[in-house]
Amino acid sequence: MRIRFWGTRGSIATPGPGTTRFGGNTSCVELTTAEGGCFVFDCGTGARALGAEFMARGSTPLSVTILLSHTHWDHIQGFPFFAPLFVPGNRITVCGPEGSARSLREVLAGQMEFTYFPVDIAQLPATISFQELGEGTHEMDGARVLAQYLHHPAMTLGYRIEADGASAVYLCDHEPYAETLSHDGAGPHDDASIASIVHEGDRRHARFMRDAGLVIHDAQYTPEEYPAKKNWGHSTYEYAVDLAGTANVRQLVLTHHDPAHDDRFVEEVEGRARRYAAERGYAMDVCCAHEGLELTLAPHGARHLADVPIALPAGREGLRGTRVLVVDDDPDIRALASVALSQDGHVVSEASSGREALALIDSQAFDLLVLDLLMPGQGGLEVLRILRSGPATAALPVVVLTAMDDEANTRAGFELGATDYVTKPFTIPQLAARVRACLTRSASPR
Ligand SMILES: [Zn+2]
Ligand SMILES: [Zn+2]
Repeated sequence: MRIRFWGTRGSIATPGPGTTRFGGNTSCVELTTAEGGCFVFDCGTGARALGAEFMARGSTPLSVTILLSHTHWDHIQGFPFFAPLFVPGNRITVCGPEGSARSLREVLAGQMEFTYFPVDIAQLPATISFQELGEGTHEMDGARVLAQYLHHPAMTLGYRIEADGASAVYLCDHEPYAETLSHDGAGPHDDASIASIVHEGDRRHARFMRDAGLVIHDAQYTPEEYPAKKNWGHSTYEYAVDLAGTANVRQLVLTHHDPAHDDRFVEEVEGRARRYAAERGYAMDVCCAHEGLELTLAPHGARHLADVPIALPAGREGLRGTRVLVVDDDPDIRALASVALSQDGHVVSEASSGREALALIDSQAFDLLVLDLLMPGQGGLEVLRILRSGPATAALPVVVLTAMDDEANTRAGFELGATDYVTKPFTIPQLAARVRACLTRSASPR
């Protein structure tokens, strides 16, 4: 398995004398398997040079599978400039998560409307197919491809490719689910260390990396920068190092460098990340990705990850009309949550207390509950306990809202059967994506 980086920058392309070493092009990584399977993670501006390279190699017709994490600009802007799209006979398969408002094809076609670009997507001569993915395990081009939702203010997928006895994982863009990881720290890295991580979302994220030969991870911010950038959907190098180290990953490549970080700064981040990994006792290579970085993954006897349960994309109409009850004593939070969820087509009801919520649930059916942790009278955990003990509501997806990212309550919430645990303040797209992921998982056959 061979991996090459064509774009390592996050947010926006950042050319100039300050970025010549690590690169100014946005996200794009090529992965080729020994059998000739050809995958491209994301189509940021780095995809232009990759397309030119494909053309120079001259092997036509080409068959390429593009795996988009999501459709923020820095992950799709190179698509219209990807030269193989302009060659008849080439087969390009574009995979990515479903958008909440428009299909994957519509989103990519949108940035090629004549207002923005001279060639309409329908005019491209290559044979292009689109595949909207949810979580799950897929066979593509002779490789096993696993997809799992990440934490970002948009539906975003991480990918794990297993082929040639090796495994590589691509995780951009992603933010920690909880501020406190609190696993048991350095030492032997096994399933028990992963189980000790506080938030189920972070545990799931670590399990997805388990024993991988290579993990490519978002590390846009330093720990000092992160508090001001919370909810922007990106990680620190410490989080990436901790999770990959705990998951027994062999090599970690940090990427999605912030546009404000010049080469000197990224080099410092690389040094800090390596020292942090050493301090924590992780036997893992760590580096910052640069354009042109090429890695060959030898077979490392990686065990196959268990299948990620399939969560089929529900489609834009599939989740429309789902009934969500928002329970919070704070009218501002109820209003914000209602706006976030109504925009995604859900039918939202509100309750201002646990008692009111339980009465409503007795009299009508809901598909998901957004439940505040701390309320006067019955708190969220007490309501959750009552719901889990009733057969009609035992499996009802419940997203707990918490004002404080505290370890004890987060653990207690998941032990009581919370489906997810979201810290306030949240943003509208962030809550919409979390609720959509919960609904998609719970609606799909396991
Ligand atoms: Zn990005
Ligand atoms: Zn993004």
